[in-house]
Amino acid sequence: MKKVVKFGGSSLASAEQFQKAGDIIRSDGERRYVVPSAPGKRSSGDTKVTDMLYGCYAKAEAGKDFKAELKQIKERYEEIIRGLGLTLSLNEQFKTIEKDFKEKAGDNYAASRGEFLNGIIMAGYLGYEFIDAAEVIFFDEAGEFDSEKTNAVLSERLAKVERAVIPGFYGAYADGRVKTFSRGGSDITGSIVSRAVKADVYENWTDVSGFLVADPRIIDNPPVIDTITYRELRELSYMGATVLHEDAIFPVRREGIPINIRNTNMPEDRGTWIVESTCQKSRYVITGIAGKKGFCSVNIEKDMMNSEIGFGRKVLQAFEDNGISFEHVPSGIDTMTVFVHQDEFMDKEQKVVSAIHRMADPDTIDIESDLALVAVVGRGMKSTRGTAGRIFSALAHANINVRMIDQGSSELNIIIGVSNDDFENTIRAIYNIFVEIQL
Ligand code: ASP
Repeated sequence: MKKVVKFGGSSLASAEQFQKAGDIIRSDGERRYVVPSAPGKRSSGDTKVTDMLYGCYAKAEAGKDFKAELKQIKERYEEIIRGLGLTLSLNEQFKTIEKDFKEKAGDNYAASRGEFLNGIIMAGYLGYEFIDAAEVIFFDEAGEFDSEKTNAVLSERLAKVERAVIPGFYGAYADGRVKTFSRGGSDITGSIVSRAVKADVYENWTDVSGFLVADPRIIDNPPVIDTITYRELRELSYMGATVLHEDAIFPVRREGIPINIRNTNMPEDRGTWIVESTCQKSRYVITGIAGKKGFCSVNIEKDMMNSEIGFGRKVLQAFEDNGISFEHVPSGIDTMTVFVHQDEFMDKEQKVVSAIHRMADPDTIDIESDLALVAVVGRGMKSTRGTAGRIFSALAHANINVRMIDQGSSELNIIIGVSNDDFENTIRAIYNIFVEIQL
């Protein structure tokens, strides 16, 4: 068996956390490939090293003195090295970083140093080989991740290495310039490495014991989801449930490698398993609930809309031309509604409205703001009668006015639009009917 283990920033924020990670890795010989993040926050008021690096580089870029900031970053690493009792020195690396910052190597390069340096420490601590991600993870000229080139180079390289540390979050263009993924991107690196070595499991170690059925800021102590499919996870993370980077499932999904979310501070917990498909029923009819506030709906009416070929395309073109992506488009016979993010839409609202008038010639356009969307997700819904009925009767009892309903064609989710003010109560009402009464 081969396991790839990725440790998030909070799992590597201090020597003490490093030790926990080290114990976890050493306790299982199959944990052969390690992907570290940069040191995260040690406590709630702390700053992540990645943010310190961005800040430090901003000064360098502006031609200001950045020595004090760089020294603080160096101290964070030295504290870890001392705490682990290692004899390692990062003096050379910091000299190079200082020089590169002066030469304005770019903020991608700057941010990537967080993982790079943590990787060197981790490799020294474990006695594993260090492999610089810039040599094995590639981006194409357009800045897109080059999955095939990466997989070819990385799998060949790792085939020769029994145990290695590959820092997360970055790779390089063909010419060697460093490029990072978006924030939280070490999750993606872990997934890429798992694919390259055809791992049996990708363990993603973080500071929670898995995905929760609902947001703990709204629901007290929601249970952990035992097993969730990739598709269910996509639906929930799209709606804001963030434990794992959205793009992290794609590389492993191709190989059917399961992801196991685990808690570095509670290594005995089983965590959440993210799988391609499963015969395991979820504990409740629903797998999870998530939602987001801040949507607008643009309601368009036109008599005989149903028979007009191309109407929907023209309407959506008006959004596209203004660079606005739409979230949902429920439609009726003579009506069509387009849900968009309010903050994206606000500035361009009148431009979009006039473009719709010009292109599609509707009878009326009506905009509603301050809406929230709530997604009820579950592979079990397909085979259970009355799920929608239960949701809506629960919402009616809670005096919540449902403004929109959209059942995904996969029957994996039901999306409900309510006013922002009803958001929390909507989640509570749905949670109560499916989870609370069964606990
Ligand atoms: N250190 C990077 C960040 O803070 C990447 C990561 O942790 O995954 O976003």
